[in-house]
Amino acid sequence: MGEAGMGQDVPRRRKEGRGKDGLPAGEAGLGQDVPRTGETGQRPQGVLYLCATPIGNLEDITLRVLRILREADLIAAEDTRHTLKLLNHFGIKTALTSYHKFSGDTKAEHLIRLLAEGKSIALVTDAGTPSISDPGEGLVRRCVEEGIPVTTLPGPCACIAALTLSGMGSARFCFEGFLPTPKRERAQTLDALRCEERTAVLYEAPHRLGKTMQELAASLGARRVAVCRELTKIHEAVFRGTLPEAAAYYGGQDVKGECVIVLEGVTRAAMEEEKRKAWETLTVEEHLAMYLAKGMARKEALKLVAQDRGVSKRDIYNALI
Ligand code: SAM
Repeated sequence: MGEAGMGQDVPRRRKEGRGKDGLPAGEAGLGQDVPRTGETGQRPQGVLYLCATPIGNLEDITLRVLRILREADLIAAEDTRHTLKLLNHFGIKTALTSYHKFSGDTKAEHLIRLLAEGKSIALVTDAGTPSISDPGEGLVRRCVEEGIPVTTLPGPCACIAALTLSGMGSARFCFEGFLPTPKRERAQTLDALRCEERTAVLYEAPHRLGKTMQELAASLGARRVAVCRELTKIHEAVFRGTLPEAAAYYGGQDVKGECVIVLEGVTRAAMEEEKRKAWETLTVEEHLAMYLAKGMARKEALKLVAQDRGVSKRDIYNALI
C-alpha cells in the first residue's frame, strides 16, 4: 500500500537499518544526483530537505518525510508549536528550531552555516509544501547560491489538492497564491485574471472569503468557480457554481476553515465577446474618430473599427451613411 518500497531501489547512505516506520533508513534517490562534498571534495556538506507535511489529514504524510524528520540533525519549522504536535504524533524527537517569515537573514545565515558544516536540515512549514506561499523560498535560494544540496520530499500541497478536486481543466493552470493586499497591485492581478485562459488557483483566508468572492464576481463576471474548504479534513467541502453565486453564498456567513479558490479560465470566444461589448459603448462614429485622432488613415481606421466590433467593413460603411 502507499509508497512502500520507495526506499528499496535506491542507494542508502545515512544511518542504515530500519526506522520506526518499518522502511530501510537512507536517503532515497538523493545519492544519485546530489553531491555530498563541498567544492574542495573534502568537507562533507549537509542537505536541506524540503519536507511536505499534511494539510489536514495526518495520514497524508509520506514514509520518506517521516524518515527524514527522524534522521535529520535539525528540523526548521515555520511554527515550532504546530510542528511539535506533528512530531509528537509520530514519536519523532529530532531537535527543532524556528524559521518563519519574520526570522530574517540572520536565521537563514545560521542555517546555511550549519548546512555548510555538514548538518542536515529538514524544512517544514505549518502545512503543505515548503516554499509554496510560505517561508522556504529564500532559504532554498541561499542554498543554491552557496552550492548546498537541496532536495524535495513531495507530498501534500493545497493548490494541487484543490485543482484536482475542482473539476476545472487541469492541463494548464496558473497559481496566484494570495491576492496582493495593496490596492493597485490587487487591481492589476484582477485585471490579468480577466483574460487568463488557464485555470487559476488562489489561496484565501476564511474571514476574507466573502469579500474576495464579491470582488472577483464584480471583476470577472459569471465565471465558474470551485471553493475548496478544509481539504482532507472531516468537514472538507467544495462549493461549485458561478462567482456571483459564490459571492451570495459566502457573503453573509461566517466561514470557517482554510480555503482555496479555483477559477475557470476565460475562453477566447468569451473574451472576444467581452471586447465587442466594450466597443459597443461607443457609437460607430466615435469609434472611427478615436482611430482618426491617432493619425490613422480613414481606410485603415474603418478596417480596425470593423474588426473590433466583429462585423464587416460594409456594415461599418452602412452605419456611417
Ligand atoms: N505551503 C502550503 C501548501 O503547500 O499548500 C500553503 C501555505 S499558505 C500559508 C496557507 C494557505 O493554503 C491557506 O490560507 C489556504 O488557502 C491553503 N490551505 C492550506 N491547507 C488547506 C486545507 N486543508 N484546505 C484548504 N486550503 C488549505
